[in-house]
Amino acid sequence: MRRALPVVLGGLLLFGFQAPLAAPAFAGTRPLARNVILVIGDGMGLSQLTSGLVAAGGALAVESFPVVGLAKTFSSDRLVTDSAAAATAMACGVKTRNGAIGVDARGGRVASLVELARQRGLKTGLVVTSSITHATPAAFYAHQSSRKNEEAIATDLLASGLDLFIGGGRRFFDRRCDGVDLLAGLETAGYELVTDPRGLAAAKGARLAGLVADEDLPTITEGRGSYLPDAVTLALARLPGPKGFFLMAEGSQIDYGAHDQDAPRTAAEVVDLDQVVARALAFARSDQRTLVVVTADHETGGFALTAGSLEKSTVDAKFATKDHSATMVPVFAFGPGAATFAGIYENTGIFDRIRSALGL
Ligand code: MG
Ligand code: ZN
Repeated sequence: MRRALPVVLGGLLLFGFQAPLAAPAFAGTRPLARNVILVIGDGMGLSQLTSGLVAAGGALAVESFPVVGLAKTFSSDRLVTDSAAAATAMACGVKTRNGAIGVDARGGRVASLVELARQRGLKTGLVVTSSITHATPAAFYAHQSSRKNEEAIATDLLASGLDLFIGGGRRFFDRRCDGVDLLAGLETAGYELVTDPRGLAAAKGARLAGLVADEDLPTITEGRGSYLPDAVTLALARLPGPKGFFLMAEGSQIDYGAHDQDAPRTAAEVVDLDQVVARALAFARSDQRTLVVVTADHETGGFALTAGSLEKSTVDAKFATKDHSATMVPVFAFGPGAATFAGIYENTGIFDRIRSALGL
């Protein structure tokens, strides 16, 4: 894919640069970090982030991250990626076609960070505000040619061995075309099943399946409240152990706000995700062995901030598209291994760097 972009390379040559420097080698197997928390803002480009910053009164927790990089989000077949190909790049380290989940561009299965972490005995968790079978989380445990196969993705979840997952999507487990009751399957597999978000905090089982909405959770402006930061706090209380953990938390609905060209809702979803960032950072600061990475799968909306007021915490915005855009996305890193996240690299480089940090 890199070599298929003559415009970009031509631009570099035009400015007199030599060929791009070779990517740094991440060959070491000695782990730098015991734990990794990967925070993904779906559709969270720099304008989304800035709109959240303005809505929050001028500052975000993510500002205190010492290392910033940029990731190129192109998929194997499109300049503008979708969430499935972008999540597969971050979760499995390969560029694939738009729509593909945990498989390469030829359809072959590729191992995810969750699977690699489990093989080494780390605990694993996913926390999202969409269906748990939606593209972003799915790429961390499922292998399907299409993101639309949400019932098959739910079946893959049962086989994933995740220690904890919290999100929506219950209907892909208990109202399936094939009539199979996957909720019973989850309980047989040893999961404590929670279907009401208010019941999450009281869960005591070793493995937790939180399926707390039929599909998506409500939007933040519809009253989702502190569900996402609270679910992440719960995960951070349950996952730590002697072998470490990998947790992915997604602000799934930043993307939805931007698809709907709703600037205030988009900003409010970013502020909600920043609460997750704050909690992850607090955990990492006290733990000292946790790498926190905050990034996006792509930008949504071609969002531009054209005016506004910091005093009133408002922005005037324009959207260039109802879909995603091809712009690079920011990557923020804190903790052991964070320095490797400086610079500009492919979104598959996020997988490479996390894998290296954990010594997987
Ligand atoms: Mg998503
Ligand atoms: Zn989208």
